[in-house]
Amino acid sequence: MLIVQKFGGTSVGDLERIQNVANRVSESKKAGNDVVVVVSAMSGETNKLLGYAEYFSSNPARAEMDMLLSSGERVTASLLAIALSEMGFPATAMSGRKAGILTDESHTKARIEDINPHAMKELLKAGKIIVVAGFQGVNKNGDVTTLGRGGSDLSAVAIAGAIGADLCEIYTDVSGIYTTDPRIEPKAKKLDKISYDEMLELASLGAKVLQNRSVEMAKKLNVNLVTRTSFSNEEGTLITKEENIMESPLVSGIALDRNQTRISLMGVIDRPGIASDIFNKLAENDINVDMIIQNKAHDGATNIDFTVPLNDLNDAKSVVDGFVKSGEIKADSYNEDICKVSVVGVGMKSHAGVAALAFSTMADNNININMISTSEIKISMVIDEKYAELAVRGLHDAYELDK
Ligand code: ASP
Ligand code: MG
Repeated sequence: MLIVQKFGGTSVGDLERIQNVANRVSESKKAGNDVVVVVSAMSGETNKLLGYAEYFSSNPARAEMDMLLSSGERVTASLLAIALSEMGFPATAMSGRKAGILTDESHTKARIEDINPHAMKELLKAGKIIVVAGFQGVNKNGDVTTLGRGGSDLSAVAIAGAIGADLCEIYTDVSGIYTTDPRIEPKAKKLDKISYDEMLELASLGAKVLQNRSVEMAKKLNVNLVTRTSFSNEEGTLITKEENIMESPLVSGIALDRNQTRISLMGVIDRPGIASDIFNKLAENDINVDMIIQNKAHDGATNIDFTVPLNDLNDAKSVVDGFVKSGEIKADSYNEDICKVSVVGVGMKSHAGVAALAFSTMADNNININMISTSEIKISMVIDEKYAELAVRGLHDAYELDK
């Protein structure tokens, strides 16, 4: 097999751990695989470099920041290649540029535009292990770019796509994706397999494991992703095409998002185009609106409620203020003490009654539902934050996810 193995910051956190990674990579090679390794900087290293720059400037040039930040990954890539070669497994370290990772020009948050896998393929043919510095590429002017925080997952997935790898393994300190957050529900189980779409909807469960951007790219490039721990041999979770999962469960997991605020607009003038005006203004300001409810109008006015992430709240307030000043909205109110619980599963596409069970579970626990939204594979409910854990455990039980 051709395998990409990506090791995150904690997995390469010190020299001993880098040696452990070298041992693991050499095992894969010994088993007859071709291996491309992608590494993060040692944990804490990127933040340390950021701190160094801050000592001199609160607003350093982003091209220099990319030169600086990309060095962390080069350190681990070089050390790992040295360790592997010393063990008798010839390895070559590559910067993003040498690996052929071409990005656009937006420094510190570049997008990968293309990968030229030629150099990697030649080395693989020669039997070498390749160790690529993650999180970085090169733009068309030859300048180093970085892909945004947590970007080495993206490097790994993009490389896996470009070289046609059979598997892209993402090693972290977490053993996989669970049916829900085990800190809330200790009975949570690790999933063997999950589809890309479910993973994207369960983002809050995967947040510490995988970037959503990487899952989107894996889906687009059809890369089989596995998340697993580098600290034991425990099998991880495979994230793959829905068609590759023979028997998908009705529900795969319960996600909790505490990071939402509810905004209520009262006395919104009822004219064609008002919703478009409000939500376009929010979009122009990069505010991520999630759930929206509009009530039936009477006396020429209506109420609209919606949710935004907590860190968009201030921007959203100033947009709403504009409409209040112009008289098109009479009053606004904000509730930060809410959360969103979601039931996710591709199985619900073909089964009735999944939503009804979610609602009756809330009823049985005396939890009031404030807002509801559904998609083909998800039911989300906004409830008071104080019921968050009760709701998650109740739903986990109701859908028998511990079985
Ligand atoms: N070292 C970079 C960061 O901390 C990239 C990564 O670890 O994925 O954001
Ligand atoms: Mg990471």
